[in-house]
Amino acid sequence: MKDEAINKGIVAKVEALDIRLIRYLYCDLAGVIRGKTVHASQFPKKISEGVGLTRAQNAVNLFEELVPVEGMEPVGEVRIIPDPETFTILPWVDRTAGMFSDLLEQDGSEWGGCTRSVLKRAIDFAAKQGIEVMAAFETEFYLAEEREGGPIPWKDAPVYSSSGMDRASEVMNSIVDNLTTQGIIVEQAINEYGPGQQEIAIKYDNALRAADLHLKFRDTVRGTAEVEFGLLASLAPKPFPNGVGSGAHLHFSLWSIENKTNLFYNPKDPTKLSELGLNFVAGVLDHLPGLLALTCPSYVSHHRLKPHSWAGTTISWGYDNRECAVRVASPFNGREMESINLELKTCDGSTNPYLALAGLILAGLDGVARKLKPPLPAHRDPEYLTNEEKTLCQIRPLPSSHLEALEALEKDVLLTNGLGELMTRAYLATRRAENAKAKLEGDEWARLATFSTF
Ligand code: GLU
Ligand code: MG
Repeated sequence: MKDEAINKGIVAKVEALDIRLIRYLYCDLAGVIRGKTVHASQFPKKISEGVGLTRAQNAVNLFEELVPVEGMEPVGEVRIIPDPETFTILPWVDRTAGMFSDLLEQDGSEWGGCTRSVLKRAIDFAAKQGIEVMAAFETEFYLAEEREGGPIPWKDAPVYSSSGMDRASEVMNSIVDNLTTQGIIVEQAINEYGPGQQEIAIKYDNALRAADLHLKFRDTVRGTAEVEFGLLASLAPKPFPNGVGSGAHLHFSLWSIENKTNLFYNPKDPTKLSELGLNFVAGVLDHLPGLLALTCPSYVSHHRLKPHSWAGTTISWGYDNRECAVRVASPFNGREMESINLELKTCDGSTNPYLALAGLILAGLDGVARKLKPPLPAHRDPEYLTNEEKTLCQIRPLPSSHLEALEALEKDVLLTNGLGELMTRAYLATRRAENAKAKLEGDEWARLATFSTF
């Protein structure tokens, strides 16, 4: 009933605003935003019945190869069912709206190949424990110009400089506007480290919405740069081999559904982080090798994960330590309860945010269920710790290659159970095929092939 009323409202809006095309979008296993577009004349019925999609579409890997996966062959159809809560008008294109969708069986039941459904299951699992997960992606990206021989960064300026802010201001203002008109709350826009590199932080929301918003963010950044300015935007993890990488740092906190309080907050502890927060950190660290295959999921992700690049290369955590995989972000005075949160640095813009968040929730809650204690936090860049400190902080390397991370995921029963049988099989097969193709063609080819995919 509630959905029917929302649908009616959206159909009326489409009519009133003379929207012509409505995009039914989803994020595939490779982290690519895809979908089909419905004409407004069909929308009143198509908003609830959805459109058809071959199961094989989710077996297409990052390099557009159709990978053989049983259960995702070009036989049989699922439905792309848009979520009305995600409806926004896309400001950089004419008379067009977009919605994010679930991929469901024809009878409306869950399909094992739908990444958004994986996150919904993880959210339900947390909700059964009285927990709501809040999250936000803080995303870095490059603006670039197309040139013969490959893209080059658009405008150079010192990091965090006002000159950089000025040079990028027209594009950044437009991106921010286009986010804002879609109801996305922009908190900060930063002229980042690399030439042409920018960052925009958006306000946290519940985990499902955070993932949907991140995808809207990606489309908005890329679309605004391309359509309005003829520029490229790259959310790839390492778009320039000698430049600084780009993260999509994942901030999160757990809230009590009953009391609406942040469960990571303990006013009595000098660090302000609660016991539950510590358990959650320990769970994430415990599953980090496998989780990495979901949060830094692509072949090119591993070009970013280098020491001293503030991206995290070790299984480590620390208070405001930007070189650790997990950072406890210090709370703000007067807003301590709301603002204390954890940040996963080992996350980038090539991720499927539904899978990344699902994996993170399951890993952390496992730490809570097992009352795991994290080792000592790192108080310096882990590499500069003494050997004794390294032992106390249990500093270990993360999987150092794409294949190693995929192997760790395959061995992680908690994560593969969370993904489900079909998703696990399809994910490993498509990612391994991506790896084989990238190795065959080389790093430079892989970089250019994915430069503005995300
Ligand atoms: N660019 C770094 C990364 O790849 C992060 C820098 C920062 O902390 O802002 O994650
Ligand atoms: Mg940054």
